[in-house]
Amino acid sequence: MIALAMSMSGKPTAMNMSFQRGYAERFDWLKQQFTDWIFIFSTSLLYYEGSDDEDTKELFRQAMAAFDGNAPTYHIELRDKPTVVWDFHSLLLMIQMMFSTMLTDEKNPLRLCKHCNKVFEAKRPDNLFCSAECKNRFNVYKSRNKDK
Ligand SMILES: [Zn+2]
Repeated sequence: MIALAMSMSGKPTAMNMSFQRGYAERFDWLKQQFTDWIFIFSTSLLYYEGSDDEDTKELFRQAMAAFDGNAPTYHIELRDKPTVVWDFHSLLLMIQMMFSTMLTDEKNPLRLCKHCNKVFEAKRPDNLFCSAECKNRFNVYKSRNKDK
């Protein structure tokens, strides 16, 4: 605890609080955060894979624009090369930033598995399945349906 307190000295109070043993948040607040994130993810998913109707697409754009893109601050440190260091003052801010980065990542996009419908981080942009097992199962079911 003392080592943690020393490494956290000079950090904002909100950050110090989040490492305390008794730290907690209200369940309904947590539930709302998760609901917001799945809303953002499904809005993005439906925009690209759903209806081509322009009015619907405009609704999705407006919904996405309403997302609270709470920006962290940063500073530059002179390490082995100049480096941007993000200052996250809360876990919520850090998760939102990571989530936004993952959602907009072109190389490793967030996807819904075509077989099990779970969200996964694609290892390549053209990955459609969360695992080799899901890909195999999907193809087995597809070929069995063809035989009938
Ligand atoms: Zn899967």
